[in-house]
Order: sequence, then structure tokens, then C-alpha cells
Amino acid sequence: MQPHAEHIRASYRGSGKLAGKKALISGGDSGIGRAAALHFAREGADVAILYLEEHDDANETIRLIEKEGRKGLAIAGDVSSSQVCNDAVAQVVTQFEGLDILVNNAGVQMVQEDIEAISDEEWQRHMDININGYFYLVRAALPHLGKGSAIINTSSINAFAGNKDLLAYSTTKAAEMGFTRSLALQLVSRGIRVNAVAPGPVWTPLQPASWGIVDPQTVAELGKDTPMGRCGDPSELGPAYVYLASEDASFVTGQTLHVNGGKIING
Ligand code: NAD
Repeated sequence: MQPHAEHIRASYRGSGKLAGKKALISGGDSGIGRAAALHFAREGADVAILYLEEHDDANETIRLIEKEGRKGLAIAGDVSSSQVCNDAVAQVVTQFEGLDILVNNAGVQMVQEDIEAISDEEWQRHMDININGYFYLVRAALPHLGKGSAIINTSSINAFAGNKDLLAYSTTKAAEMGFTRSLALQLVSRGIRVNAVAPGPVWTPLQPASWGIVDPQTVAELGKDTPMGRCGDPSELGPAYVYLASEDASFVTGQTLHVNGGKIING
């Protein structure tokens, strides 16, 4: 498993499940977001990605989307700004002439072993990006999302299992679950479905970046507590997003799809 691999299996055959759809994915430049982007494109969707400027994976992701014969749009910006989110949605709607699928996925994760050592700034940054960013993008996108649209929020196994070293992060991931469920109920009358994906440990740049680990063997250690005994690869997450975005999930809203190597989760 490579951190900058294409994140879609050669054997994944699109069948037009998202033909003609237009999607926006925050953090779609790398990791799980890139996997969702490439699977959406292979299923026939045009895909815009919103990402942090300092990340250099965006151009490659757009190249891979266009290789699928779909339109790609890269928008650099920080989701913790409501103005950035408003502008990003406006740009997507103008360029793609609509929006059908929103994936809230951009996230940060800082290791914090001791609550007393967490600074106000560190705590606030988690809230700004992992919670506020999700809210800002949904609010901006809603006027453009019609009946049959889908919103998918990337949460985490840590929302359910807790993690003593990821206090702020786990707090935000649990908040995303409350947001998902309440939003699903609010939007059901508009015919918009809202669901979450809760990944277990996945081999992405998020892990080495925040844990200071660069050795794949060491990163693989992070997956040793899953029943499958390994980390997931982003390519194993992409199909979950396709399912929730597509008509296949027409009777599914307010739910969580756990993609975590077999851990049984209550909730
Ligand atoms: P990643 O680092 O590969 O991707 C995250 C992307 O988010 C970055 O590339 C960046 O462009 C974007 N981003 C970060 N802050 C941003 C900001 N302020 N504004 C705009 N974009 C921003 O990591 P990933 O592992 O693919 O993470 C994606 C999501 O999956 C996150 O929400 C994360 O919490 C969740 N998740 C990851 C794992 C895992 O083990 N990798 C497990 C559970 C949940």
C-alpha cells in the first residue's frame, strides 16, 4: 500500500451509477477523499475537490479524474472559512452547472496525549475544520441540492470507540455523527439523503503526518487491533462512498457505514 497511489483498483468497473452527477469533495486531493473522487469519476460523475493549498496532490488527482473522461475542478481553500466554502460551492455550480453530491471529508488530526497539554488553538483548529467546515459546506451547498441529492460525511471509528491520544479529534468525529443524524432528519422532506462513513485505520498521509511515522511497516502496526489485523487502503473506502451517493442507497439516510476491518460497533 502506497500513500500516494491512485486509490482505485484496476479491477473496479464503473457501471454508470453516478452518470451525469456533479460532486464536490472536501479534502478530495488525497487519501480517502481522493479515493472517493476517483470512484465517483469512474461511475460517471464530474468531481470538484476543495483542499488546503499546501497539499500538492491536487493536480495529480485532477489528472486521474480527467483520465476517467470526466471533468475535474481543483479549488484551493480552507474549509474553516465560511466565505471560502460559499465561494467554492459557487465555483462548482458555475463550472459544472449544478451540484448533486457533497462529501465532507477534509480533516485534521493532532496527537494529544494529555488534556492539560492541549492549547486553545489546537482544540479550536479541530473544531474549525472538522466541525465548522462540514457545517459551512452543507449550508452553502443546500440551495443547489435537489431531490435525490446526497451528502456524505467522513467520520471515524474514533467517534464510537474513543481514543485517549486523540481527544479533540475524537470529539469532532462524534460531533459529525450528531450532525449527520440530525441533518438527515431535517432534510428527509426535501429528498436529500445524509449519511456517514466511519473508517477504521486507513493508510493515508493523515497518519504519518500526525503521528510522525513514515515507515509503512510501522503504519501497518496501527491496524493490528482490527479483526483483519491491518490498515485499510483508500481504494477499499471508495466503493462505500459510491454506494451512499447512488440510487442504490435510496432508502438509506441518517446511517453510518463502518469500513474498519471488522470491528463491531454499536451505534
Ligand atoms: P489526508 O491527509 O490524506 O486527507 C485530508 C485532506 O483534507 C488533506 O489532503 C487536505 O487537503 C484536506 N484538508 C485538511 N484541512 C483542510 C482545511 N482546513 N481546508 C480544506 N482542506 C483541508 O487524510 P485522510 O486519512 O484521507 O482523511 C480524510 C478523512 O478521513 C478525515 O476526515 C479523517 O478524519 C477521516 N478518517 C481517516 C482515517 C485514517 O485512518 N486515515 C480514519 C478515520 C477517519
